[in-house]
Amino acid sequence: MTFQDLKITAPILKALAAEGYTHPTPIQQQAIPILLRKRDLLGCAQTGTGKTAAFAIPILQHLHLDQRRETNRRKIRALVVTPTRELAIQIDESFTAYGRFTSIRNTVIFGGVKQGTQVQALQRGVDVLIATPGRLLDLMNQGIITLKDIEYFVLDEADQMLDMGFIHDIRKIIARLPEQRQSLFFSATLPPESLKLSQKILGNPEKVTIKPEQTTAEKVQQSVYFVEKKSKAKLLVHLLQTEAIDSALVFSRTKHGANKIVKLLGRAGIQSNAIHGNKSQTARQKALSSFKSGQTNVLVATDIAARGIDVEELSHVVNYDLPNVPETYVHRIGRTGRAGASGIALSFCDAEEKAYLRDIQRTINQKIPVADDHPFLGSNTESIAGSQPSTPQANSRTKSTENASVSVKSKKPRHPYWKKRRPQK
Ligand code: AMP
Repeated sequence: MTFQDLKITAPILKALAAEGYTHPTPIQQQAIPILLRKRDLLGCAQTGTGKTAAFAIPILQHLHLDQRRETNRRKIRALVVTPTRELAIQIDESFTAYGRFTSIRNTVIFGGVKQGTQVQALQRGVDVLIATPGRLLDLMNQGIITLKDIEYFVLDEADQMLDMGFIHDIRKIIARLPEQRQSLFFSATLPPESLKLSQKILGNPEKVTIKPEQTTAEKVQQSVYFVEKKSKAKLLVHLLQTEAIDSALVFSRTKHGANKIVKLLGRAGIQSNAIHGNKSQTARQKALSSFKSGQTNVLVATDIAARGIDVEELSHVVNYDLPNVPETYVHRIGRTGRAGASGIALSFCDAEEKAYLRDIQRTINQKIPVADDHPFLGSNTESIAGSQPSTPQANSRTKSTENASVSVKSKKPRHPYWKKRRPQK
């Protein structure tokens, strides 16, 4: 199936071609025809499935084919509400990309920054608004935004929205929407609370459910190590010295970070090489062949440099830094466990990365077991380990991390190092 088959209008087709999209993803194949018929939609899909384009394309098409300019001022005709600033920015960028050959205008608003620039953009006039709930309500209350002209409403990542306690804000927003509208509701899962919310928003929706690709994530043995940022290098050395690691591809978020890891490993007597964009092609090739031949057992790489690296029989992937894009995690861990081999992926998570971990677990629809038998458990571990379900695990080394970023209620010691380290804090 192609986008032409979905009857997408020429300027949007051109933009999709420019994005390099050749074929619609499964959710796009199913959702776009429904949305072009102006039906309400209940979409069970996660980030990474192409769901943003699945709703952005039909909304842009409706707005493009039905342009209204009775007055000089544009009215906000489409509203997308999403829980986080990062998602809001991503969605805004998608609307900009897919709508670039139309005259539809979009903007994004979110909290945590001054409102001035956002208000100016709104005052210039937009057709599509992407917003996080708090800032949206705030600007509505100031009389800067009205929802009375909304024809298309999208509630994105509904379950995350409920998890984050946005239910009251959402209710207030819904109450201000016109009755006559097309509504779209996206959620990765549909627990009773999400279902109830969807029923409040949607009329008689059509449903689309898309399961993400989980094959890689399922066959790789994963674990997460909670550790303070400053102890990550020590933990890496500890693992390389104590675990049976034949070969490890270590991922660093930055080039500078990759160099630093190599240096710190060197100090501990562990030889490694880094590959990243600042290294010459020759240096990269040399590092790679030394790793492939088994001369060095550790290769430290950034995501871009690691693209295209195919190392047979790679035993371990180490996420020294967790990626902020969940799909990157799946790509990284997919480097091990190739061709039926069982691979191992170890991820380090510091306090600032807890949100990334949560996104990753959502995307792979799996809880990554926690390895808590290491000597570098950080102070951030309290909020994570303390929120673990108390059900016994099959593997005594690991605990599940469902509520990775939820704060603690119980302060029970969780591991042998806890007592030893606690008095020093
Ligand atoms: P989303 O699930 O909306 O976050 O999309 C995940 C990623 O897939 C984004 O980077 C999109 O740019 C990309 N994407 C969406 N639709 C397509 C498509 N039809 N072909 C290729 N990439 C796509």
